[in-house]
Amino acid sequence: MRVSRDGVGMTSRRTRERMVMRLRRQGIRDQAVLDAMLEIPRHLFVEEALASRAYEDTALPIGFGQTISQPYTVARMTELAVGGRRPAKVMEIGTGSGYQTAVLARLVRTVYTVERIEALQKRARFLLYDLKIYNVKYAHNDGGWGWTKHAPYDAIVVTAAAREIPDALLQQLAPGGVMVIPISQGDRQLLKRVTCRGSEFEVEDVEPVRFVPLVGGIG
Ligand code: SAH
Repeated sequence: MRVSRDGVGMTSRRTRERMVMRLRRQGIRDQAVLDAMLEIPRHLFVEEALASRAYEDTALPIGFGQTISQPYTVARMTELAVGGRRPAKVMEIGTGSGYQTAVLARLVRTVYTVERIEALQKRARFLLYDLKIYNVKYAHNDGGWGWTKHAPYDAIVVTAAAREIPDALLQQLAPGGVMVIPISQGDRQLLKRVTCRGSEFEVEDVEPVRFVPLVGGIG
């Protein structure tokens, strides 16, 4: 089948519909999350040579040693962070390709996304602009420190694996706010959901995941 970047062949809406059907079978229930993933043309977020594989349930390279997460993981993290509610402010750590950013942007008022590799941040910014997604603010920084200027956030989505939950991020979570973050434990990673309850944080284990590491400093 022909592959193009304008919605023909393997990159068409029908391919996305199949992806969404698969996500539903995998247990994703939030219709708004599924609708957002039906709309966002994921094949534009991967290298052109890989566009025909963009809707497979697999992580793919996006350059600079980084990867776009598999669709299931994006859906699951989005559902955990914002499912069933429509938060105003969400911070994402690890813009990468901007795909998770774009999905979040369909569901919340403003996404604040932080990326340590400037070239990735710029590419994502241009792509989202092309897609007419304007409710995103971008920072080139070490996201381990969050983005204090716009805190607190109703939700925080971390898309790189940390050794422990960064204190700075906990401090930037609004009361009732939710953070989803992959945490490395030896050679495994576990997705955690942290909920801010007054002065306490409730931490739940969700499921095993595989992410690139959260790296300190900027590149
Ligand atoms: N959400 C992305 C996933 C990208 S992979 C997507 O949908 O494509 C994780 C990203 O986190 C990479 O781009 C990596 O450069 C970035 N990253 C790693 N450590 C970081 C840090 N401390 N601050 C900000 N971004 C970081």
